Amino acid sequence: MPMRVVRSVAAMQRIARDLRRRGRIGFVPTMGFLHEGHLRLVRTARRQSDFVVVSIFVNPIQFGPTEDFRRYPRDFGRDRRLLQSAGADFIFYPGVKEMYPEGFATFVDVERLGEGLCGKSRPGHFRGVTTVVTKLFNTVLPDVAVFGAKDAQQAFVIRRMARDLDYQLRIVILPTARENDGLAMSSRNVYLTPEQRAEAPVLHRSLVLAKRLIGQGERDAAKVKATMRRLIRRESGGRIDYVEMVDTDELRPIKTIAGETLVALAVFFGKTRLIDNIIVRP
Ligand code: AMP
Repeated sequence: MPMRVVRSVAAMQRIARDLRRRGRIGFVPTMGFLHEGHLRLVRTARRQSDFVVVSIFVNPIQFGPTEDFRRYPRDFGRDRRLLQSAGADFIFYPGVKEMYPEGFATFVDVERLGEGLCGKSRPGHFRGVTTVVTKLFNTVLPDVAVFGAKDAQQAFVIRRMARDLDYQLRIVILPTARENDGLAMSSRNVYLTPEQRAEAPVLHRSLVLAKRLIGQGERDAAKVKATMRRLIRRESGGRIDYVEMVDTDELRPIKTIAGETLVALAVFFGKTRLIDNIIVRP
Protein backbone atom coordinates (compact mmCIF):
# COMPACT_ATOMS: atom_id res chain seq x y z
CA MET A 1 0.00 0.00 0.00
CA PRO A 2 1.62 3.33 -1.00
CA MET A 3 1.78 5.91 1.79
CA ARG A 4 -0.88 8.63 1.57
CA VAL A 5 -0.90 12.20 2.85
CA VAL A 6 -4.22 13.36 4.28
CA ARG A 7 -4.79 17.05 5.00
CA SER A 8 -8.40 17.34 6.11
CA VAL A 9 -10.00 16.18 9.36
CA ALA A 10 -13.08 14.90 7.52
CA ALA A 11 -11.03 12.79 5.08
CA MET A 12 -8.88 11.36 7.90
CA GLN A 13 -12.01 10.46 9.88
CA ARG A 14 -13.52 8.70 6.85
CA ILE A 15 -10.31 6.72 6.29
CA ALA A 16 -9.97 5.87 10.00
CA ARG A 17 -13.54 4.53 10.20
CA ASP A 18 -12.82 2.29 7.23
CA LEU A 19 -9.42 1.11 8.58
CA ARG A 20 -10.93 0.26 11.95
CA ARG A 21 -13.32 -2.16 10.32
CA ARG A 22 -10.35 -3.93 8.72
CA GLY A 23 -7.76 -4.00 11.54
CA ARG A 24 -5.92 -2.18 14.32
CA ILE A 25 -4.76 1.42 13.92
CA GLY A 26 -1.41 2.47 15.41
CA PHE A 27 -0.85 6.21 15.81
CA VAL A 28 2.20 8.41 16.37
CA PRO A 29 1.56 12.13 16.87
CA THR A 30 4.55 14.38 16.04
CA MET A 31 5.44 17.95 15.18
CA GLY A 32 7.64 16.79 12.29
CA PHE A 33 11.33 17.42 11.57
CA LEU A 34 11.71 13.77 12.38
CA HIS A 35 14.70 11.98 13.83
CA GLU A 36 15.54 8.42 14.84
CA GLY A 37 13.57 8.82 18.11
CA HIS A 38 10.36 9.47 16.17
CA LEU A 39 11.10 6.64 13.73
CA ARG A 40 11.42 4.14 16.59
CA LEU A 41 7.90 5.08 17.67
CA VAL A 42 6.70 4.52 14.11
CA ARG A 43 8.38 1.11 13.86
CA THR A 44 6.80 0.08 17.17
CA ALA A 45 3.38 1.21 15.94
CA ARG A 46 4.07 -0.82 12.78
CA ARG A 47 4.74 -3.98 14.81
CA GLN A 48 1.73 -3.52 17.09
CA SER A 49 -0.94 -2.69 14.54
CA ASP A 50 -2.21 -3.30 11.01
CA PHE A 51 -2.26 0.35 9.86
CA VAL A 52 0.05 3.15 10.93
CA VAL A 53 -0.96 6.82 10.96
CA VAL A 54 1.63 9.49 11.79
CA SER A 55 0.46 13.05 12.30
CA ILE A 56 2.68 16.05 11.61
CA PHE A 57 1.28 19.22 13.14
CA VAL A 58 3.14 22.03 14.85
CA ASN A 59 0.42 22.86 17.35
CA PRO A 60 0.27 26.63 17.94
CA ILE A 61 -1.78 26.40 21.15
CA GLN A 62 0.95 24.54 23.03
CA PHE A 63 3.50 27.31 22.43
CA GLY A 64 3.70 30.42 24.61
CA PRO A 65 3.68 33.88 22.99
CA THR A 66 7.49 34.22 23.28
CA GLU A 67 8.28 30.63 22.29
CA ASP A 68 9.52 29.16 19.01
CA PHE A 69 6.27 28.33 17.15
CA ARG A 70 7.19 30.35 14.07
CA ARG A 71 10.78 29.22 13.82
CA TYR A 72 10.15 25.58 14.83
CA PRO A 73 12.05 23.53 12.19
CA ARG A 74 9.94 22.08 9.37
CA ASP A 75 10.87 19.86 6.40
CA PHE A 76 7.87 17.96 5.09
CA GLY A 77 9.66 16.46 2.07
CA ARG A 78 12.30 14.85 4.24
CA ASP A 79 9.73 13.69 6.85
CA ARG A 80 7.67 12.08 4.11
CA ARG A 81 10.65 10.09 2.81
CA LEU A 82 11.63 8.95 6.33
CA LEU A 83 8.07 7.88 7.15
CA GLN A 84 7.75 5.97 3.89
CA SER A 85 10.82 3.89 4.75
CA ALA A 86 9.76 3.43 8.40
CA GLY A 87 6.53 1.84 7.19
CA ALA A 88 3.85 4.46 7.83
CA ASP A 89 0.63 4.10 5.83
CA PHE A 90 -0.81 7.59 6.30
CA ILE A 91 0.56 11.00 7.21
CA PHE A 92 -2.11 13.21 8.71
CA TYR A 93 -0.83 16.70 7.88
CA PRO A 94 -3.50 19.30 8.62
CA GLY A 95 -3.07 23.08 8.52
CA VAL A 96 -3.68 25.30 11.55
CA LYS A 97 -7.07 26.55 10.22
CA GLU A 98 -8.15 22.95 9.62
CA MET A 99 -7.50 22.07 13.27
CA TYR A 100 -8.63 25.39 14.78
CA PRO A 101 -11.29 26.93 12.56
CA GLU A 102 -12.90 30.28 13.36
CA GLY A 103 -14.87 29.99 16.58
CA PHE A 104 -12.84 27.18 18.17
CA ALA A 105 -13.50 27.38 21.93
CA THR A 106 -13.05 23.99 23.63
CA PHE A 107 -10.01 22.86 25.62
CA VAL A 108 -9.07 19.73 27.53
CA ASP A 109 -7.20 20.19 30.80
CA VAL A 110 -5.66 17.51 33.03
CA GLU A 111 -5.48 19.02 36.51
CA ARG A 112 -2.32 18.93 38.68
CA LEU A 113 -0.05 16.77 36.49
CA GLY A 114 0.56 19.57 34.02
CA GLU A 115 1.24 22.26 36.60
CA GLY A 116 4.77 21.47 37.82
CA LEU A 117 8.01 20.79 35.91
CA CYS A 118 7.63 22.14 32.34
CA GLY A 119 4.14 23.43 33.16
CA LYS A 120 5.60 26.03 35.50
CA SER A 121 7.72 27.80 32.91
CA ARG A 122 5.31 26.99 30.07
CA PRO A 123 1.85 27.89 31.43
CA GLY A 124 -0.92 26.49 29.24
CA HIS A 125 1.47 24.17 27.40
CA PHE A 126 -0.08 20.89 28.51
CA ARG A 127 -3.61 22.21 28.00
CA GLY A 128 -2.57 22.82 24.39
CA VAL A 129 -1.07 19.33 24.17
CA THR A 130 -4.07 17.51 25.65
CA THR A 131 -6.47 19.51 23.50
CA VAL A 132 -4.67 18.68 20.26
CA VAL A 133 -4.13 15.04 21.22
CA THR A 134 -7.85 14.71 22.00
CA LYS A 135 -8.68 16.09 18.57
CA LEU A 136 -6.13 13.78 16.95
CA PHE A 137 -7.45 10.72 18.81
CA ASN A 138 -11.01 11.61 17.74
CA THR A 139 -9.87 11.94 14.13
CA VAL A 140 -7.46 8.99 13.80
CA LEU A 141 -9.38 6.56 16.09
CA PRO A 142 -6.24 4.69 17.18
CA ASP A 143 -6.16 1.34 18.98
CA VAL A 144 -2.56 2.02 20.02
CA ALA A 145 -0.89 5.42 20.41
CA VAL A 146 2.90 5.57 20.82
CA PHE A 147 4.76 8.32 22.71
CA GLY A 148 8.36 8.89 23.80
CA ALA A 149 9.71 9.02 27.36
CA LYS A 150 11.82 12.01 26.29
CA ASP A 151 8.72 14.11 27.01
CA ALA A 152 7.91 12.22 30.20
CA GLN A 153 5.50 14.74 31.70
CA GLN A 154 3.61 14.88 28.39
CA ALA A 155 3.37 11.08 28.26
CA PHE A 156 2.10 10.89 31.87
CA VAL A 157 -0.44 13.67 31.28
CA ILE A 158 -1.75 11.97 28.12
CA ARG A 159 -1.90 8.58 29.81
CA ARG A 160 -3.98 10.11 32.61
CA MET A 161 -6.23 11.88 30.12
CA ALA A 162 -6.84 8.65 28.19
CA ARG A 163 -7.74 6.89 31.41
CA ASP A 164 -9.93 9.69 32.78
CA LEU A 165 -11.82 10.22 29.52
CA ASP A 166 -12.30 6.49 28.85
CA TYR A 167 -10.43 6.36 25.56
CA GLN A 168 -10.51 2.83 24.25
CA LEU A 169 -6.86 2.71 23.27
CA ARG A 170 -3.51 1.61 24.62
CA ILE A 171 -0.82 4.19 25.35
CA VAL A 172 2.71 2.89 24.73
CA ILE A 173 5.69 4.90 26.05
CA LEU A 174 9.11 4.12 24.55
CA PRO A 175 12.54 4.93 26.03
CA THR A 176 14.38 8.08 24.96
CA ALA A 177 16.53 7.72 21.84
CA ARG A 178 19.93 9.32 22.35
CA GLU A 179 22.93 10.42 20.31
CA ASN A 180 26.18 8.51 20.95
CA ASP A 181 27.27 11.07 23.56
CA GLY A 182 24.01 10.69 25.49
CA LEU A 183 22.21 13.84 24.28
CA ALA A 184 18.50 13.10 23.89
CA MET A 185 17.49 13.37 20.25
CA SER A 186 15.27 16.38 19.65
CA SER A 187 14.09 18.40 16.68
CA ARG A 188 15.32 21.44 18.63
CA ASN A 189 18.95 20.24 18.71
CA VAL A 190 19.45 21.91 15.29
CA TYR A 191 19.19 25.29 17.06
CA LEU A 192 22.36 24.60 19.06
CA THR A 193 25.65 26.28 18.15
CA PRO A 194 28.64 23.88 17.92
CA GLU A 195 29.75 25.01 21.41
CA GLN A 196 26.29 24.46 22.91
CA ARG A 197 26.02 21.09 21.16
CA ALA A 198 29.35 20.07 22.72
CA GLU A 199 28.16 21.06 26.20
CA ALA A 200 24.60 19.69 26.03
CA PRO A 201 25.47 16.03 26.84
CA VAL A 202 26.13 17.18 30.42
CA LEU A 203 22.34 17.01 30.90
CA HIS A 204 22.35 13.26 30.43
CA ARG A 205 25.53 12.92 32.50
CA SER A 206 23.77 14.72 35.37
CA LEU A 207 20.88 12.24 35.17
CA VAL A 208 23.28 9.29 35.17
CA LEU A 209 25.00 10.83 38.18
CA ALA A 210 21.64 11.09 39.99
CA LYS A 211 20.92 7.47 39.24
CA ARG A 212 24.34 6.45 40.57
CA LEU A 213 23.95 8.45 43.79
CA ILE A 214 20.51 6.93 44.40
CA GLY A 215 21.93 3.50 43.58
CA GLN A 216 24.60 4.09 46.24
CA GLY A 217 21.87 4.76 48.80
CA GLU A 218 21.34 8.54 48.73
CA ARG A 219 17.69 9.26 49.60
CA ASP A 220 17.76 13.04 50.07
CA ALA A 221 16.30 14.58 46.89
CA ALA A 222 17.67 18.04 47.68
CA LYS A 223 21.22 16.68 47.87
CA VAL A 224 20.91 14.82 44.56
CA LYS A 225 19.45 17.89 42.84
CA ALA A 226 22.21 20.14 44.18
CA THR A 227 24.88 17.76 42.91
CA MET A 228 23.24 17.68 39.47
CA ARG A 229 23.03 21.48 39.35
CA ARG A 230 26.69 21.82 40.30
CA LEU A 231 27.75 19.45 37.51
CA ILE A 232 25.63 21.27 34.90
CA ARG A 233 26.98 24.68 35.98
CA ARG A 234 30.57 23.46 36.06
CA GLU A 235 30.51 21.81 32.64
CA SER A 236 28.29 24.11 30.60
CA GLY A 237 27.06 27.64 30.12
CA GLY A 238 23.47 26.38 30.25
CA ARG A 239 20.91 28.29 32.33
CA ILE A 240 18.95 25.87 34.51
CA ASP A 241 15.16 26.23 34.27
CA TYR A 242 14.54 23.38 36.70
CA VAL A 243 16.07 20.20 38.10
CA GLU A 244 13.34 18.26 39.85
CA MET A 245 12.45 14.90 41.33
CA VAL A 246 8.79 13.86 41.40
CA ASP A 247 6.74 10.72 41.96
CA THR A 248 5.58 9.05 38.73
CA ASP A 249 1.89 9.08 39.62
CA GLU A 250 0.91 12.66 40.47
CA LEU A 251 4.27 14.22 39.50
CA ARG A 252 4.54 15.89 42.91
CA PRO A 253 7.99 17.00 44.09
CA ILE A 254 9.45 14.58 46.62
CA LYS A 255 11.84 15.23 49.51
CA THR A 256 12.82 11.64 50.18
CA ILE A 257 13.46 9.11 47.44
CA ALA A 258 11.30 6.09 48.23
CA GLY A 259 9.26 4.77 45.30
CA GLU A 260 9.60 5.12 41.54
CA THR A 261 10.97 8.61 40.86
CA LEU A 262 11.13 10.78 37.77
CA VAL A 263 14.30 12.86 37.71
CA ALA A 264 13.65 15.62 35.18
CA LEU A 265 15.35 18.81 34.05
CA ALA A 266 15.07 21.68 31.61
CA VAL A 267 18.06 23.83 30.72
CA PHE A 268 18.38 26.77 28.33
CA PHE A 269 21.34 26.89 25.99
CA GLY A 270 20.95 30.42 24.67
CA LYS A 271 17.30 30.60 23.59
CA THR A 272 17.06 26.83 23.13
CA ARG A 273 15.33 25.00 25.95
CA LEU A 274 16.35 21.34 26.22
CA ILE A 275 14.63 18.79 28.44
CA ASP A 276 15.66 15.33 29.58
CA ASN A 277 14.75 12.86 32.30
CA ILE A 278 15.35 9.43 33.73
CA ILE A 279 13.21 7.15 35.90
CA VAL A 280 14.87 5.57 38.93
CA ARG A 281 13.59 2.82 41.19
CA PRO A 282 15.54 2.71 44.46
P1 AMP B 1 7.65 15.95 18.93
O1 AMP B 1 7.66 15.90 17.44
O2 AMP B 1 8.91 16.51 19.50
O3 AMP B 1 6.41 16.59 19.48
O4 AMP B 1 7.62 14.45 19.44
C1 AMP B 1 6.69 13.53 18.96
C2 AMP B 1 6.81 12.26 19.75
O5 AMP B 1 8.14 11.76 19.63
C3 AMP B 1 6.56 12.46 21.25
O6 AMP B 1 5.88 11.32 21.76
C4 AMP B 1 7.95 12.53 21.80
O7 AMP B 1 8.06 12.14 23.15
C5 AMP B 1 8.68 11.55 20.90
N1 AMP B 1 10.12 11.80 20.93
C6 AMP B 1 10.75 12.96 20.66
N2 AMP B 1 12.09 12.83 20.83
C7 AMP B 1 12.28 11.56 21.25
C8 AMP B 1 13.44 10.80 21.62
N3 AMP B 1 14.67 11.31 21.62
N4 AMP B 1 13.26 9.51 22.00
C9 AMP B 1 12.02 8.96 22.03
N5 AMP B 1 10.90 9.62 21.69
C10 AMP B 1 11.03 10.90 21.30
